[in-house]
Amino acid sequence: MIDSFVRRLGMIAASSLVLASCGGQKEETQTTAETSAPVEAATPGAEDEAKVTGDAIMNADATPGAWLSHGRTYSEQRFSPLDEVNMGNADQLGLAWAFDLGVSRGIEATPIIHDGVMYVTATWNIVYALDAKTGAEIWSFDPEVDRSRASIMCCDVVNRGVAIWGDKIYTGTIDGRLIALKAKTGDKIWDVNTIDKSKPYSITGAPRIVKGKVIIGNGGAEFGVRGYVSAYDAETGRIVWRFYTVPGDPSKEPENTAMAMAMDTWNGEEWWKLGGGGTVWDSMAYDPELDLLYIGVGNGSPWNQELRSPGGGDNLFLSSIVALRPDTGEYVWHYQTTPGDTWDFTATQHMILADLEIEGVSRKVIMQAPKNGFFYVVDRETGELISANNFVPINWATHVDMETGRPVEVADARWPGKAPYLQLPGPLGAHNWHPMSFNPETGLVYIPAQEAPWGYGDDPDFEIREGVWNTGSNFLYGLLPTDLAQFKALKAMLKGRLLAWDPVKQEAAWAVEHQGPWNGGILSSAGGLVFQGTADAHFAAYDAATGDEKWRFFTQTGIVAAPVSYEVDDEQYVAVASGWGGSYALGFGGPLPTGSEAKVGRVLAFKLGANGELPALTPSDAAMAPPPAMTASAAEVEKGLAAYARYCIVCHGDHAQSSGLVPNLRHSAVLGDAAAWNMIVREGAFAENGMGSFGAFVDEEISEAIRAYVISEANSGRDAAYYESIGKEE
Ligand code: CA
Repeated sequence: MIDSFVRRLGMIAASSLVLASCGGQKEETQTTAETSAPVEAATPGAEDEAKVTGDAIMNADATPGAWLSHGRTYSEQRFSPLDEVNMGNADQLGLAWAFDLGVSRGIEATPIIHDGVMYVTATWNIVYALDAKTGAEIWSFDPEVDRSRASIMCCDVVNRGVAIWGDKIYTGTIDGRLIALKAKTGDKIWDVNTIDKSKPYSITGAPRIVKGKVIIGNGGAEFGVRGYVSAYDAETGRIVWRFYTVPGDPSKEPENTAMAMAMDTWNGEEWWKLGGGGTVWDSMAYDPELDLLYIGVGNGSPWNQELRSPGGGDNLFLSSIVALRPDTGEYVWHYQTTPGDTWDFTATQHMILADLEIEGVSRKVIMQAPKNGFFYVVDRETGELISANNFVPINWATHVDMETGRPVEVADARWPGKAPYLQLPGPLGAHNWHPMSFNPETGLVYIPAQEAPWGYGDDPDFEIREGVWNTGSNFLYGLLPTDLAQFKALKAMLKGRLLAWDPVKQEAAWAVEHQGPWNGGILSSAGGLVFQGTADAHFAAYDAATGDEKWRFFTQTGIVAAPVSYEVDDEQYVAVASGWGGSYALGFGGPLPTGSEAKVGRVLAFKLGANGELPALTPSDAAMAPPPAMTASAAEVEKGLAAYARYCIVCHGDHAQSSGLVPNLRHSAVLGDAAAWNMIVREGAFAENGMGSFGAFVDEEISEAIRAYVISEANSGRDAAYYESIGKEE
């Protein structure tokens, strides 16, 4: 099947690279004066002046009822020491409360819990403070982000949560701001721009706070940016340091010795014009004893290494774990998981610090299961590779050479200039951003693992198009085949599982198969349980030792976020944000069962003996208009498909098969109306809803061809095949 797939796609000759020069813009800093609004009520936290400090986070186990930083501890283990909910009683869990986040896009937030208050983010960076016992809203804050920037975000308008420090809450926004709020009231204290707004940067990650500095990175490597991470003073919002992850303009002096070292690993003179990539869009960890801050660095920009760095090179610090000094941002060491990345193989995935006994010696390790499919155990003091093994089937490398620490590649997998290659894993990764968990009692790492194949191939018409994806790979190869039988066969290759991995033996302990990829992040607990939400709209508890399911709850929508556990008035809660979304949801839909909806986002809190019920859903796609008749020629449709793959697929889905998060183009009311279609596509009529104008790239002829392609898909009969593949009624 893979052969026929590749044969159908055919060979396309590489063409010359045209690079445009991008204009720059100075970074602005705007500080809003502190305003104090009196809010005095019998709300949790209102009387409490206890401030969150670095000591409090370092001693998180002394207050196991709180959740004070993104991964609970600086080690980011996501293990709760609470054990009131345990193996013996998990089946008595029930819904204590649900809070409607009032949004319709993906929810990826990990809540922070302090002093009986939960702080959580929703779509469009709206921040909520909730009573952690009842779910009652205490305050909300809307940063009023520029929603048109949704079209320069690769992977949905998501956010992974806030940070707490002192008496303040910190949040990053999709339009690149870092904002400090009063924890008590939600009043804004300062609001700092962290990006060059003329470039397609965005923030989706949760800030981490170390030694009074708010550490924040950003995303944008699919569009073309130069990655960096910055530290801001938590009190004032003043920038303290910035560390670039890839070199800049080679005609200028490198910023530091690390950049001088990195420069030697890049070829050509063009990469810096598109930024080079290496964004720090999610994971970090901190070891207070070693005083090292670890950052996970993303993929190259463009993906295609021949365009980015002709002739190869490792391209530091792409796809690397980098250790920095948190006071200064000074480089200490790095370990590169994928030298010379050409597959969107980020190393931004969750990193966990632990002490493991390996061959009789206690080792201080950092563990990561990045997109490329290998599980790495690295000495976190030196960056030395201790062990690596693939945790899912892969066909791009055979193993990691322990002498060099480098993957041994399969020759055909390095696709630029060669035949298209259908690969596991693809850009969705063997594991994406969804957090893992390490249980020190079982010694296992619990991974939301997945298999999602992707066809990589050259883009003969590549040129930099500012404002859209610039990968240098043709997404026609990433599209699943048009033939219905192959379509079903490839849908069946999509897999997802909860994988319990022994990091010492580097082998699986057990696995639970899910309906497909893109399941939620993970929490493990001293109650011997592992909690995970799933793409098919459930939240479940499993036996940490065996994977046996102990409890399951229908959540009405898919879950991608990670759960947390906390305690109020001596009762343990397990909470998770529901809300289907992210890149897989947008690109490939998902296995939402009948009776569920994509556009539902809530915080769900569970405790023993509760019996709450979710409100009934109102189906949103009740009346679907029949598609207009096909009138366009096959050539017109082919032209539309090429443009669709370049501009539309990443949000509107393969074969125009929407996830339900964004309008289903097959059933669009304007599909039969060329003028209205043009108003949206070319003139940005729906920009405020996140559908920016594509008028700079798509002329009327192309817009019309895309419409013809979508009409052809609407008449293809694929809907029925798709719904059959996920066991859902159309
Ligand atoms: Ca990427």
